[in-house]
Amino acid sequence: MRGWVFTGLKTGIKSTRYPEEEEKRPGVSPGLPIAGGNSLGLVDICPTNALLASNGQVALEYGRCVHCFRCARAAKSAPLDWSSGYEWADLSAKAGETAVEFGQNGFGRSLHVLVVDAGDCGACLSEIAQLNGPYYNMHRLGIFITPTPRFADVLLVVGPVTEHMREPLRKAYAAMPTPKRVVAIGVCALSGGVFVPSFASGSGVADVLPVDVVVPGCPPPPLAVLHGLLVAVGRKPPSRMFVSQRPVEERTPVL
Ligand code: SF4
Repeated sequence: MRGWVFTGLKTGIKSTRYPEEEEKRPGVSPGLPIAGGNSLGLVDICPTNALLASNGQVALEYGRCVHCFRCARAAKSAPLDWSSGYEWADLSAKAGETAVEFGQNGFGRSLHVLVVDAGDCGACLSEIAQLNGPYYNMHRLGIFITPTPRFADVLLVVGPVTEHMREPLRKAYAAMPTPKRVVAIGVCALSGGVFVPSFASGSGVADVLPVDVVVPGCPPPPLAVLHGLLVAVGRKPPSRMFVSQRPVEERTPVL
């Protein structure tokens, strides 16, 4: 024990300074492509149909991008630019309509977060778990994970919402006190990801609950999740990078 105390005193605080300071260490984010350009051939190499042609330009549906780097590294000509940032969270289309009401609204003190696994593969959950560790240490910001919806201010949902998780998710949301926020994490929670169309799962959280904040990524890195929580309570501005989702029936099956 004494050894750990001396080590701590010697090395100092190693936690990230985000959000007070921008986090610039390498490896904190895989980054995301930036839409644009007229290299429409890229649309065909995207494995998740996240790229689409729109008015002769390459548009990008962030709710489906798994940052596989194909459009940046495997392009024969004019690859897409790549952003190395992590502040990806944006207001959902529903929340965007009432953005004027969006803000702290009762979230000025500590924030309790209920995480619901609605059928994820484990990747988003493992990134969220990093927030409890010493490096990201979300407790320093007054953010805590709670196991019960009765104490939760924010419902953090991962996964495409399988049929069996629809009702438990609705019940968890109904049991939360108001005001409350719903944050959808990762492409599966945003659009169903690689699981749609399927008999076993829906096309994201918005099919079941009113989503306030969306965080793209597969999986989003811990700082993107943290940004989503800060956006949800008005402590950080949204990225405004999110492109509205195409209706499910227009999507081409991925698998
Ligand atoms: S990074 Fe991969 S999934 Fe994302 S737009 Fe490019 S090709 Fe598509």
